Amino acid sequence: MAEEVTKMICITCPVGCTLEVTHEGKTLIKVDGNQCKKGIEYAENELTDPRRMVPTTVKVRGGVHPLVPVCTAAPFPKPRVFDLLAELRKVELQAPVKIGQVVLENALGTGVDVVATRNLPAVN
Ligand code: SF4
Repeated sequence: MAEEVTKMICITCPVGCTLEVTHEGKTLIKVDGNQCKKGIEYAENELTDPRRMVPTTVKVRGGVHPLVPVCTAAPFPKPRVFDLLAELRKVELQAPVKIGQVVLENALGTGVDVVATRNLPAVN
């Protein structure tokens, strides 16, 4: 497999270094442009198993609002994010919802839970 250079923005911290990542397929050869070693880890993960935190909302019955914000409890495999969003559109919770409540356990068999990120009281 031929060596190639891929540009990436490291999103690990607000600095947002532009990385020039030299790799052969999924094998990392070198990283330029990183201001710290976390950039190397980021580039390696992007090549082998890219993941993202996924914030969104899910429906709630009987709550003071019709939706509650949720987020994956850990970074989720990037290629499956749209499948996760489709799965979460089917979820409907019953108020009250507690912050940290698991709204989808072991999402798509990845071992990552989706949790509520705020309290949502029921309508009295
Ligand atoms: S390489 Fe280091 S300094 Fe640059 S964005 Fe990534 S974590 Fe931040």
